[in-house]
Amino acid sequence: MTAALIAAFGAADAGTFDYSGRGLAETSPELIVLRLRRFARKFGADVVLDSNPSDGDWSPAPFSLYLSIDWFTKRVAVDPDLPATEAAAIVHELGHILATRDTPQGSDEWSFFGWEWRVACTCGIERAWLQSCRDYALGDCREVGELSTLQVQEVLSERCRAARRKGLLDRNGAPRALR
Ligand SMILES: [Zn+2]
Repeated sequence: MTAALIAAFGAADAGTFDYSGRGLAETSPELIVLRLRRFARKFGADVVLDSNPSDGDWSPAPFSLYLSIDWFTKRVAVDPDLPATEAAAIVHELGHILATRDTPQGSDEWSFFGWEWRVACTCGIERAWLQSCRDYALGDCREVGELSTLQVQEVLSERCRAARRKGLLDRNGAPRALR
């Protein structure tokens, strides 16, 4: 896992992650959607391109204008105008669908933060995921975007251990689904 972090961030002494979005040029939203759809379908979930889905019980993501989820049918709807800097927020929405048995209103998002990282690694979208986590609040008044590379590594290592204890990752660190 540390190797993946270093690949995404650069070495720990490189300071902080570059959140300018520059490194994302090669990762288009279409590619991110494609990879996450493939991942989701392995677990009976889906990622659909639809700016205004109507056939279901959809709730908009509170922090994104571009995403909504139907928790019951395990679908994430993505507005085709989703910018690259937000594309990996789909991973978080998939977490609500697959990595907890609780509905989004009652779920503990922190419990699947490590799972999100491992999904990003599995799908080869580590940098895009980190970019989308810039404003993620850590519960101690800090946001991911304020952390040094080393601090992010510590947070992710701890969260992956917690995710493993919850059965969200297998012994090789591969993401699993709870529902
Ligand atoms: Zn959430």
